[in-house]
Amino acid sequence: MIARRLADAPRAVRECLDTLDEAAFGAASEVTPKFTSHSDPASQWTAARKGPAFFSYSDNYLIDTDSGVIIDVEATRSIRQAEVGSTKTMLDRAKTRFDLHPERLIADTAYGTGPMLGWLVERKIAPHTPVFDKSGRSDGTWSRADFEWDAEHDQNVCPEGQTLKPFRRNYSDPNRGPTSGGRAKYRALKLTCQACPSKQKCCPNADARTITREEHEDARQVARDIAKTKQYDISMKLRKKVEMLFAHLKRILGLGRLRLRGPCGANDEFLLAATAQNLRKLAKILPAPQRPRNA
Ligand code: SF4
Repeated sequence: MIARRLADAPRAVRECLDTLDEAAFGAASEVTPKFTSHSDPASQWTAARKGPAFFSYSDNYLIDTDSGVIIDVEATRSIRQAEVGSTKTMLDRAKTRFDLHPERLIADTAYGTGPMLGWLVERKIAPHTPVFDKSGRSDGTWSRADFEWDAEHDQNVCPEGQTLKPFRRNYSDPNRGPTSGGRAKYRALKLTCQACPSKQKCCPNADARTITREEHEDARQVARDIAKTKQYDISMKLRKKVEMLFAHLKRILGLGRLRLRGPCGANDEFLLAATAQNLRKLAKILPAPQRPRNA
């Protein structure tokens, strides 16, 4: 009976059920959506930049910034995890299909999370992306960036030259233990901090300073180091080419709305639009064929 009712369901609903386990759609997040479209349940209720909310899909491009040619396209739900995950899919596909392995990936802060940076660095792709970092402090006290990492001794060194060692005490609550969510905790000695002349600048409300080291911190440091280079400044300018393609997509090609429903419909429309954009680009790059003189 259920199988018959499913067979009678609209195509967009069947496609939604088919993509429930895919990282780009159903498996992108465990959070139950606030609203679900009855006619296109795989689309995401979302609002951009405090504008009105609507149901949408995200169009993700992998672009060769030297030529402005779109290498790959992937439709996803309009949530960050799915959009970021699509980059992995497209990079893997570009490697398999075209044997393309980029030296660097230029992207915005959403792509600067630890796991994404770790994934890129592991594949020897230089991350030209701002690091997603929430460790900054607004109260004027020293943040994690003011502490120096000593990899050889697995410790941090504070601005006063004192060491913060790995936190070893075990609690029944795992979130209070030495690690939580892939983070390692480091703590200074209480006696040292109590006698420190910079305590007010460091940890005015705690007995001793504690800082965390995120999973993939080495990869995050690679991205921070790249951000200090001239090539990074060039990369940030090149990123505008990507923005221009999306602006062209909406304003000139009129893809602010989709005609087709469901993940396949969105993917097909995005693919066709990217093909049109590539043809337009190639017409500019490739020289026009010469006419024979006697024609
Ligand atoms: S309060 Fe402790 S961790 Fe902070 S600077 Fe002083 S000694 Fe170092």
